[in-house]
Amino acid sequence: MLPEPVLAKVQSELLEFGDARASVMEISHRGAAFGEIAAQAEADLRALLDIGDEYAVLFLQGGATAQFSQLAMNLSAANQSADYLITGSWGKKAMAEASNWCQTRCVASAEADGFRGVPDPSQWDLDPDAAYLHITPNETIVGVALDGVPRTAEVPVVADMSSCILSEPLDVSRFGLIYAGAQKNIGPAGMAIVIVQRALLGHKPRPLPGYFDYRVQDAAGSMFNTPPTFAWYVAGEVFKWLVECGGVQEMKSRNRAKAALLYACIDASAFYANPVDKPFRSMMNIPFTLADSTLDQAFLSQATEAGLLGLKGHRLVGGMRASIYNAMPLQGVQALTDFMRDFEQRQA
Ligand code: PMP
Repeated sequence: MLPEPVLAKVQSELLEFGDARASVMEISHRGAAFGEIAAQAEADLRALLDIGDEYAVLFLQGGATAQFSQLAMNLSAANQSADYLITGSWGKKAMAEASNWCQTRCVASAEADGFRGVPDPSQWDLDPDAAYLHITPNETIVGVALDGVPRTAEVPVVADMSSCILSEPLDVSRFGLIYAGAQKNIGPAGMAIVIVQRALLGHKPRPLPGYFDYRVQDAAGSMFNTPPTFAWYVAGEVFKWLVECGGVQEMKSRNRAKAALLYACIDASAFYANPVDKPFRSMMNIPFTLADSTLDQAFLSQATEAGLLGLKGHRLVGGMRASIYNAMPLQGVQALTDFMRDFEQRQA
């Protein structure tokens, strides 16, 4: 979901952006009007997450998936390997992609337990010489969240925050690099945001093509080539909306309230279940199953009729999944829990 006020604003200025006499999609990325959009978006994101000047903020194409390998290209020196904590399928993919570029090591994996939580840090097999430790603070498909930043790591921590960025306050200084695909809490698909400590750049084993080199992108203001201008503009509008709402602290309390409501509904009934161990439950993505999976199809089609969309679980895990990103209002979750109780009663 995108916030409705943002969609309305985008619609209202889609044909003519300000006094540009053209759509935002028709103006040059090198012109003054887009320059202001780009700078304001970056300034608002920096303010929202309190990002210092020692970090570059990049607006890049290729989604989070491109970052799986681009971050390895930029952060690993020759013969250095990289550590990965695997708490779900996205972390696995991130590691597989980075393996095309450098050596990778899995420090711990929760896969054998069906990704129901996070392995205890005392059991992580950390390499003190690793280029970085990669974590996925929120695993979108299995709905597992990491509780804070690992304190045990002596190497820069790299985090895929695609499905949790801007959902709560974040101490950026604890990370070497944070990246996120845009299409959840940021804006439309087609962009990824990278927040990287400038001091970490420059150790790459050989020159990279310009587009893939963070230092080149940083020097070019993410305009080495034509950037994803429309996605960048809408992201900027989402950041303004977040500032108006009261920032990430306010988002955290709204998101907590939404998640608590849905987990309470699931836990109150033997008809529904969430497989994740309680300390590791995600605030953003809540998978749930029906005790009788032959009812899944009826649940989904009746939910769709009731205006509750996108509840089908990911093809890897089945069941249902409610993704309740920043733009989902509390009333949306109330409507879902009302429907769930009603559906259950009608099966009795
Ligand atoms: N990482 C996470 C945590 C995700 O949720 C996703 C997409 N759902 C991705 C990576 C891949 O993102 P993209 O499709 O933008 O490449």
